[in-house]
Amino acid sequence: MSFPNEDVRRYLRQTQELFGDELYLDKESQSQTDGRGFSDQLADFEGEICECQKCPLGQTRTKFVFGVGDPKASLLLVGEAPGAEEDKQGKPFVGRAGQLLDKILKAIGRHRNKDVYICNVLKCRPPNNRDPLRTEVNECEPYLLHQIHLIKPKLIVALGRVAGQTLLNVDKSLKSLRNTFHDYHGTPLVITYHPAALLRNQDLKRPTWDDFKMINEFLEQSK
Ligand code: URA
Repeated sequence: MSFPNEDVRRYLRQTQELFGDELYLDKESQSQTDGRGFSDQLADFEGEICECQKCPLGQTRTKFVFGVGDPKASLLLVGEAPGAEEDKQGKPFVGRAGQLLDKILKAIGRHRNKDVYICNVLKCRPPNNRDPLRTEVNECEPYLLHQIHLIKPKLIVALGRVAGQTLLNVDKSLKSLRNTFHDYHGTPLVITYHPAALLRNQDLKRPTWDDFKMINEFLEQSK
């Protein structure tokens, strides 16, 4: 079908008046457009939000830390916020704690790029690694929710008390939050120790290992 140019312009003008610059595609036309996959959708989303200035951390960050890993991962690991090394490199968990996390993943036969995705609640580093503020979380959490919507993990693991408390919006101890399958907007969520805590306290290695065995069993059963 061919439109005279003026009709096309009028149609586009009307659409823009109704919907602004948002582009709405129905499911059918979306799959027909170019068959864009999970990875493209995540990359597009990163491109949309990586210049974020919704909270003051946008002014102090070096790099926006979106997340890394398999866009179709069944396991999503979520930390609280980037630290110094992550802020420099623009990738989550790349410092000492991240190296330990890689070892833990290896111990359960997994790898950060295969069936695993890693990100944080906050995408920008809080100064001096202070805990995220509720105002920052309120601005940033919708980004995490959209990542979850695109990835559709079977299980979310919150790494550490702060990530767990923040996602569940509770003020309970990590001990009391462990060993339970919580619900995060429809996805099961468990909370375990932050790898940085294991670097400080060797006694936490055993319970963390128990948690990761439980995590692995859950994932194996839900295959
Ligand atoms: N700690 C976190 O919670 N996230 C990181 O990315 C690094 C350290």
